[in-house]
Amino acid sequence: MDAKRIRSTFIEYFQSKQHQFVPSAPIVVKNDPTLMFTNAGMNQFKDYFLGNETPASTRATNSQKCLRVSGKHNDLEEVGVDTYHHTMFEMLGNWSFGDYFKKEAIAWSWELLTEVYKLPVDRLYVTVFEGDKGDGLERDMEAFDMWTEHVDKEKILFGDKTDNFWEMGDVGPCGPCSEIHIDLRPEAEIMAQPGKDLVNADHPQVIEVWNLVFIQFNRQANGSLSELPAKHIDTGMGFERLVRAIQNKTSNYDTDVFTPFIAAVEKKAGKKYGEDEKIDIAIRVIVDHIRAISFTIADGQLPSNNKAGYVIRRILRRAVRYGYTFLGFHEPFLHELLPLLSEHFGEMFPEVSAQEDFIAKVIYEEEAAFLRTLDNGLKRLDQIKADMANKGEQVISGKVAFELYDTFGFPLDLTSLIAREKGISVDEKGFDAEMTKQKNRSRAAAEQETGDWVQVGEDAGVQFVGYDSLETTSNIIKYREI
Ligand code: ATP
Ligand code: MG
Ligand code: MG
Ligand code: MG
Repeated sequence: MDAKRIRSTFIEYFQSKQHQFVPSAPIVVKNDPTLMFTNAGMNQFKDYFLGNETPASTRATNSQKCLRVSGKHNDLEEVGVDTYHHTMFEMLGNWSFGDYFKKEAIAWSWELLTEVYKLPVDRLYVTVFEGDKGDGLERDMEAFDMWTEHVDKEKILFGDKTDNFWEMGDVGPCGPCSEIHIDLRPEAEIMAQPGKDLVNADHPQVIEVWNLVFIQFNRQANGSLSELPAKHIDTGMGFERLVRAIQNKTSNYDTDVFTPFIAAVEKKAGKKYGEDEKIDIAIRVIVDHIRAISFTIADGQLPSNNKAGYVIRRILRRAVRYGYTFLGFHEPFLHELLPLLSEHFGEMFPEVSAQEDFIAKVIYEEEAAFLRTLDNGLKRLDQIKADMANKGEQVISGKVAFELYDTFGFPLDLTSLIAREKGISVDEKGFDAEMTKQKNRSRAAAEQETGDWVQVGEDAGVQFVGYDSLETTSNIIKYREI
């Protein structure tokens, strides 16, 4: 089954259960001071759960564009390094607003995965909330019993609050959840170690695919919980992970969601994917980030120096930097992927194809500007080299390496590489020490998190520090990487 079929099958399955299809909300959240980007399918339904609005239909399904690069959900550092966390991804979901509850949610998720998509039953694990004494919360035996109608008992695992209890924020709707995980390791490895030991353990082949949240409580301001009069279902399944499981691949990037883009980057770079880990990471970063950047621009957020625009600029620069360092892209190249992007996603998300030329132009300008910054950094490095030669020095100090990084966007590995070519070296420990100082400064000023909703502070310069940060000081663009 190709990715498009997998997506439409999900929607059609829930439509056949009387769910109304709701188009994806924009990735950029405009009217919520506590959330910058949509990070879950339920965001656009928040007011239904809070009881502030009444839905047109009590059952909904969709595929939501999500971005997890800030706040509670910040996966940026993982992206490209692992093969199942993306910056932008699609979250497939089904919802009940005071309509059906656990029994149907559980039965349908299982039927869809095992009978429609035909995922191997023996590879699936299910988790259930184990309870929390402090909160006076019981084990979710209701869910456990319902699961036993579909799954062997030994495939049902108990999990604590971190993985199996969802809260919107400090107050408001919340409840236990059940997640479905899949073990995609080769048979021999499974024989050696059972999959149940690896669920929620960051094993790259034992991954979480679907989260079913049973919203049944309301958290009061004093911390106590009360039963909600109307109970809700909120589910989210990572589309790219589902495709990988169905297509039986060892990486999301080996599915047809990404392979056409990987082929385009390979061709442009004259390098092969799958031979050198550093090159692979760079390619994955690019094919991941181009989606986040393009979809966000399509939803009206241009790269800029503050807030959401600032986050996008950093993601774009991260991609340019990886391309420059590992793939030899010294001229703008990301924008060239736009036709492919609109070809592959245009049907589901027409906002990208409708603005293809505009998006490409914005990206081109950003790339060109940043590549100039990189060039200036190279000139500065020449100066440094000359100064050092005069003083008879051989090692670039941590402070100077950090200045290159901070002011010119030179990551340490790039500085080291160029230094090596010039026959000198870099004090990497000294650089790390400078970086730690910087991180401490950032952390002190970092955002306050309240849950799935993030408190957006005043200082745009430091608040969304994930993998790297960018800030403007007297017209010099500063770029850092952690
Ligand atoms: P993980 O533990 O793998 O980080 P999560 O528990 O943070 O996932 P949820 O908040 O439960 O994820 O989101 C619902 C589903 O969305 C997950 O089960 C997963 O399939 C998918 N998902 C979450 N984060 C990402 C991401 N960064 N990239 C791709 N898919 C994701
Ligand atoms: Mg996560
Ligand atoms: Mg998880
Ligand atoms: Mg989860």
